[in-house]
Amino acid sequence: MSWSQIPAWAQPLWQQWRDCYQEERLPHAILLVGSAGNGKRELVEAFVRGIQCRESTEPGLPCEQCPSCLQFTSFRAVEENAHPDIEWLRVSGYSIGIDEVREHIIARVLKKANYDRNKFLIIENAQRMTPPAMNALLKSLEEPPAMTNFFLITHQPHRLLPTIRSRCQRYVLPTPSHETSLEWLCEHSLDRGEAEQALRAADGTPVRALQMQSNGQMEFRHQFEKDLEQVLHGKKLETSFSQNWNITPSAASKSKNLTEGIFEEIPMDLRLSWIIQYGVEFIREMVKKPVSGMEMLRAMKAYRELLLVREYEAVIPAPQLNLELACLALMKIPGIRQPVNQ
Ligand SMILES: [Zn+2]
Repeated sequence: MSWSQIPAWAQPLWQQWRDCYQEERLPHAILLVGSAGNGKRELVEAFVRGIQCRESTEPGLPCEQCPSCLQFTSFRAVEENAHPDIEWLRVSGYSIGIDEVREHIIARVLKKANYDRNKFLIIENAQRMTPPAMNALLKSLEEPPAMTNFFLITHQPHRLLPTIRSRCQRYVLPTPSHETSLEWLCEHSLDRGEAEQALRAADGTPVRALQMQSNGQMEFRHQFEKDLEQVLHGKKLETSFSQNWNITPSAASKSKNLTEGIFEEIPMDLRLSWIIQYGVEFIREMVKKPVSGMEMLRAMKAYRELLLVREYEAVIPAPQLNLELACLALMKIPGIRQPVNQ
């Protein structure tokens, strides 16, 4: 791995952790916060693999060739990760239950490290832990054995129990500016137009934009928007829209349908962001024309409702309902509904 593979905006944090590690003061529990898809996962992976690497040269990046580097197979399902001292809990479901935390994290806390390095226990999308799962984790966070480090990665830290948050040292990975993101995407072989589109689809986060561009998710984004327009044009009901675009993890895992698999990688809050984006872009156009105060007020209220739907996305147990609510809020923007005359 070369230094340039760590996104530039993540390098200062990588260096900070590296210094802490070398001075033996790396916090035993790290809460890494930042927008979804801004490189948190890539940062943690580069850091822990760099420490575990047998052949690591300065500045401490994984060599990709030694037994340790080869054992950690990047981003596979938890069952497939063969590294003895890096446990990466990553689930595709909406929640991480107590059994998963016990089996993959707590059981590993007690085991001795296989190599002479630190043992890393990583929970991605930590906000998805259920309250019992978080409570089960508390004790391990409180009294971790020596040379054991936890990483809790999340873009929604407010969903973690305060007791979990207070036991972790918090680090924020900032999302780069629009211009920096575009430059980074262009360095990764996207042309300017593609980069702009992908960044819009990824709600401004560059790493996710790159993934979306490379794994066929842009087409989904496109279909999603076309379908949304059908609702606004009165050709489709918001209930059938929300049903179509709510693919639950269980449905996706049962089905061998590849496209469902791809869509599952797009979390609900991003799907909601796409609806919000549509509304924002409409409002931007709306204010270019003469608009009454009353209309503007209604547009602002609708926008606030849209934001609320996304904020409370996790609280509502039926994801399909989230999409429906967002459609309903969107339709309150004056003039956005354009029923086609039969
Ligand atoms: Zn290595």
